[in-house]
Amino acid sequence: MIRFEHVTKRYPDGTTAVDDLSFEVAEGELVTLVGPSGCGKTTTMKMVNRLIEPSEGRILLGGEDIATLDPVELRRRIGYVIQQVGLFPHKTVLENTATVPRLLGGQRRAARERAAELLDLVGLDPAVHGDRYPDQLSGGQRQRVGVARALAADPPVLLMDEPFGAVDPVVRERLQSEFLRLQQRVRKTVLFVTHDIEEAVRLGDRIAVYGSGRIEQLDTPATVLGAP
Ligand code: ADP
Ligand code: ADP
Repeated sequence: MIRFEHVTKRYPDGTTAVDDLSFEVAEGELVTLVGPSGCGKTTTMKMVNRLIEPSEGRILLGGEDIATLDPVELRRRIGYVIQQVGLFPHKTVLENTATVPRLLGGQRRAARERAAELLDLVGLDPAVHGDRYPDQLSGGQRQRVGVARALAADPPVLLMDEPFGAVDPVVRERLQSEFLRLQQRVRKTVLFVTHDIEEAVRLGDRIAVYGSGRIEQLDTPATVLGAP
């Protein structure tokens, strides 16, 4: 579903953040990218989303070079969740979640119904939380809204960059279990960045272990853990 072919990213200051990366993520597979800070995980994600362009190589999405896809089409195919989910502060939870369906041309009423379904899917009660504003939610709840919003266009691909990195360990564990349950239902193709090996093991069908700009190992959690 996602295929990296000899992808290299050099930033203008000469930093090589990603160095000749080639790997593939199957449809419905969840691959966690784990490794220390600065080893190129976020750069990898941003290239899939075309926030930045590779210096060399290409990335295919369902067989198509993402460089040839128009930005609206890319938004339809990829949902993105980051650590500090940027919700619109003056919109309610329901409005924040409905933003994408509306942008994609839906009717207001249908968009709100869809948003309510999505909130339910991520474990929020639309009747209770839907009319709140982001600053009236806990950190964990805000991240759930971020996940709901990323799912709004029903994209086949989800990019998650430390989505549960800013909440305390107890909430993080709950979000992880909920996300696993959600993933069993929706079966997205997921790239999930974390620097927490336990999280990588718990969530990943496979784990990509990063070391400066390269993937040193790409295997199932059992194999990665069993490795010397
Ligand atoms: P990670 O997500 O694993 O922490 P990043 O992909 O953010 O790593 O960064 C990889 C490397 O690229 C680091 O050395 C970082 O300092 C560098 N880097 C990231 N963004 C930029 C940028 N905009 N300009 C220059 N160097 C960058
Ligand atoms: P979570 O486990 O989802 O992160 P918390 O344990 O942090 O939730 O929050 C517990 C409860 O407190 C939640 O039901 C949440 O709605 C409520 N809450 C947290 N922060 C606020 C706030 N600023 N205003 C109103 N309610 C809040």
